Amino acid sequence: MATSRALDLDTLAAAAVRKGVRLLSAADFTHPEWRRELGDRLIDDGSGLFRLVPESRGESHEPTGPGAGTARFATRFVLGTELSCVWRDPPITGRGRRVHLLLFAPDIKTVDALIARFDPFGALGSDGRPLLKVSVRDLADIVFDVDERCEIIPAHVWTPWFGVYGSKSGFDSLEEAFRDHADRIHAIETGLSSDPAMNWGVPELANRAIVSFSDAHSAANVGREATVFEMEPTYDGLVAAVATESIAETIEFFPEQGKYHLDGHRACGVRLTPAESAANGRRCPVCNRPLTFGVLNRIEFLSSATQSWSTTDGGLVRGPASRPPYRRLVPLRDLVSACLGVGVGTKTVARVVADLVERCGSELDALIDSPVEAIEEVAGDAVAAAILAVRYGEVKIDPGYDGLYGKVAPLTIPSAKTAK
Ligand SMILES: [Zn+2]
Ligand SMILES: [Zn+2]
Repeated sequence: MATSRALDLDTLAAAAVRKGVRLLSAADFTHPEWRRELGDRLIDDGSGLFRLVPESRGESHEPTGPGAGTARFATRFVLGTELSCVWRDPPITGRGRRVHLLLFAPDIKTVDALIARFDPFGALGSDGRPLLKVSVRDLADIVFDVDERCEIIPAHVWTPWFGVYGSKSGFDSLEEAFRDHADRIHAIETGLSSDPAMNWGVPELANRAIVSFSDAHSAANVGREATVFEMEPTYDGLVAAVATESIAETIEFFPEQGKYHLDGHRACGVRLTPAESAANGRRCPVCNRPLTFGVLNRIEFLSSATQSWSTTDGGLVRGPASRPPYRRLVPLRDLVSACLGVGVGTKTVARVVADLVERCGSELDALIDSPVEAIEEVAGDAVAAAILAVRYGEVKIDPGYDGLYGKVAPLTIPSAKTAK
């Protein structure tokens, strides 16, 4: 449900190579048909990470398509999935809770044991991300009983309806949500709507890792956010890197692009910062009804008084010394589309992106560190200038609010072209 029909293992592997992603989740392992496909196509390379083999043949899969020739690595899969826990807290009479979690497992045997234990809580065959009628605390209890090496990471934690910190059906702390298992939650995933700096001020995250993943529902979105782990290339290495925040950097969206960043009323054309809504008594200055509060407001509510500050350095945003730096990117096809004044889904954009991948190695290479001359050579001056502007944070930001997506544009793009 809600994913591209083209999103199979081959498409994912090819997209990972094109993007420059070396490890990705095989996803949706509780779904019976997808589980069968994982069993047929993925081979444990001995490390708890998996490589893709061609259908009904035993040879290693060589990625094809744009970027394959310049691939400097073989993409590996990790067994992981997303779960949607829905329950009342306390049971029956209590407040409705909905929380999305990521779950990683070391081997297929563990996956099958998890499936057997989850089965009573929901229809596993109805969706790749199953809805389980169980609290996150009880789910954690089951998961760690099956295998202590499993890892649970709350997903897109600030989303109003499905984040563990969400304003609508989440919690004020991981302690409150996971209770006796809270210590086993080593990391949170920021989602598209927040970046690490926004999370640094939350006291209980001081000793937890802050990670970012794609949450891709189509191949084009693989690697739109990512974490660069410093890890042994094994399952245990991945889990250890999560537990110790052994991270070189994370790759983020501009959180202002999210559709619930600031507070406001879309119908009234009112957009306010958390400070402005507080000054207005948390009500809309036009219609006087309560405002729709954004992620930033919720984060400020759960943060300690001192907000961490950040500064850019070679395109990296750095905060406290104890925290990995991060960088904010705009997807390559969005930049190319804006510079050329044609739609993101056009053949022109696909061709230029493919040329950049061929020349630079991958989309992330093109966005992050390819020499500007190389980009100019295949994509022209405008695209090169736009990539450079995003690298150094020279962008115009129009934050989202009350369901309206925000916009981020490099300062170099002439408005006549973007208006086309
Ligand atoms: Zn989710
Ligand atoms: Zn209003």
